[in-house]
Amino acid sequence: MARRKLIAGNWKMNGDLAALAEIDAIAAAAVANPAVDVGIGVPATLIGPAHARAPRLAIGAEDVHAVDHGAFTGSVSAPMVREAGATFAIIGHSERRAGCGETDADVKAKAEALLRHGLAAILCVGETSDQRNAGNAVAAVTGQVRASMPWGAASGWLSVAYEPIWAIGSGHTPTLEQISAMHGAIRAMLTELLGADAASMRVLYGGSVTAENASELLGAPDVDGALVGGASLTAAKFVPIIKAAAGLA
Ligand code: PEP
Repeated sequence: MARRKLIAGNWKMNGDLAALAEIDAIAAAAVANPAVDVGIGVPATLIGPAHARAPRLAIGAEDVHAVDHGAFTGSVSAPMVREAGATFAIIGHSERRAGCGETDADVKAKAEALLRHGLAAILCVGETSDQRNAGNAVAAVTGQVRASMPWGAASGWLSVAYEPIWAIGSGHTPTLEQISAMHGAIRAMLTELLGADAASMRVLYGGSVTAENASELLGAPDVDGALVGGASLTAAKFVPIIKAAAGLA
């Protein structure tokens, strides 16, 4: 099945109101390349302003709480980010799994919250370098997919982002063979869990994607797009990645 490529940015804990000037050119590139889906995950403080500035660009949250409201000081929920203008959220990023102790069960509950509130999900999975060196990368990642995928996750509302932890922000990327093998294993797991509905789900690659390597990485078999951290912070670095995806569409 042909799947539209998705290029999603992740600003992490970066950006302020002045940085939203970058959104203009990114939104223009999204309009100019309609064969590709484009989104930007921004800090919660910027969701409203980013959406106001570029109402046609998909703006995302970088996390949500699994619960809609309550005594969870400092957290934001799916209905809150939706009201602010988000149409998707990144969940299960390795920085939250490692830094905030998020488990697969937590990530699954967050995915269910997004589904309840009509938000798309980018669900991140990925192995450590120790797991890869021990030959356990595929087992670790497919295990995360199995444990964090909500029931009823059918159809295109959810994308899985394969992000090897050792590739994030490091300038190192897996070989194309390693990426294809992992994406194939993730797709096989999705099919086992969801049957034919898995065919419409995208599997993105993330980890040190740049303007220079985007065409090669996005052209690998079973790669349906990219989750981009550092290179999404400026239009100068992000727009060429959108164009690379469009060139393959
Ligand atoms: C990320 O953190 O999701 C990511 C892919 O970062 P980078 O592109 O900077 O490696």
